[in-house]
Amino acid sequence: MTQQRLWDTFSSLISIDSPSYEEKNLCEELKKRLSSLGAQVWEDDAGTEIGGNCGNLYGFLPGELPTAPLLFSAHLDTVEPGRGKRAILGENGTIISGGDTVLGADDVAGIAVILEALTRIKENNMPRRPIELLFPVAEERYCKGSAVFDYSRIQAKEAYPLDLGGAIGQAANAAPTVLSFEITVKGKAAHAGFAPGRGIHAVAAAAKAIARIPLGEPVPGITVNIGTIGGGQAGNIVPALCKVTGEIRSLSHEAVLEQWKTVQDIFAHETNAVGAMLETNHRYQITAYETPLDSAVVRRFQKACDKTGIEPSIHTTLGGSDQNHYAQNGIEGLVLACSMHDVHSTREMSNLSELEQCVALVVALMTEETI
Ligand SMILES: [Zn+2]
Repeated sequence: MTQQRLWDTFSSLISIDSPSYEEKNLCEELKKRLSSLGAQVWEDDAGTEIGGNCGNLYGFLPGELPTAPLLFSAHLDTVEPGRGKRAILGENGTIISGGDTVLGADDVAGIAVILEALTRIKENNMPRRPIELLFPVAEERYCKGSAVFDYSRIQAKEAYPLDLGGAIGQAANAAPTVLSFEITVKGKAAHAGFAPGRGIHAVAAAAKAIARIPLGEPVPGITVNIGTIGGGQAGNIVPALCKVTGEIRSLSHEAVLEQWKTVQDIFAHETNAVGAMLETNHRYQITAYETPLDSAVVRRFQKACDKTGIEPSIHTTLGGSDQNHYAQNGIEGLVLACSMHDVHSTREMSNLSELEQCVALVVALMTEETI
């Protein structure tokens, strides 16, 4: 019966479209459900700040246990194609999408698990810790929502964001710095037939630079990508402009800085060589963190795994999450697997028995008595 309720929650939340910057409908539904569970809810004005129709949703539930509060979180938005989503349950508990959209288990799985865990604790009258909840918007856009949240609202010093692939029990304790960049090479236009020598070929200069940049994983633990390139106006004009975008990521913030310097040096060299100008812009989308394996947030997780018979497996990841921003604001955390597989594709899957397992784990965390 409780499994039926978990499925009903999951599938009905999946049916609400919630692409990044358009999370309003899901947020309103969640407000209703959280209020009926006794949570005080509050939506911030992140929507106005980042250009979406919805803010980050915060919730608080006082507890019976005299312990510090814990923060649980799951993001509200999904990637595209994410409109008209539906969840289809197979015989063995496998959940897939209709095939033309993502499923949206990333991150509705996390939301449904949190709701079901709170419901079970309530109906079984289990003494629970004080719980804080955060449902950020625009996580899929380099965590833009959680970047602008006012963390002075949060008392918890420990967080469990539910937003990871893999078997239940997997958890990420470290994530990278992600630096994204935009490089513009400014050459000079000229007629390609009458006076090619009077032009400065911006695309050729950029191409030479790109050919020299070590793409992929040039050093173990550092990835470098050029994602887009564009420039030029017409086939008979020497292109005056070429714009290139890309990103660098690593668990080591310093390594990202070094690699960014290498990329800039190579571009500077190739543009200088032909007399072109260079403009570079970069921003840190997220900053690396590492949660120590002997920290309370990790020990509590291991204890909850023991209690529920789940095999814990803690590792690092090269994917960012809202936890990157929580860590920047003094909240240690562990990102937990919550039954999402092949995410960001129309093959995305979840599984009802895994969701069940994750509910048991979250119940164990929420009712854990260590201060
Ligand atoms: Zn996610």
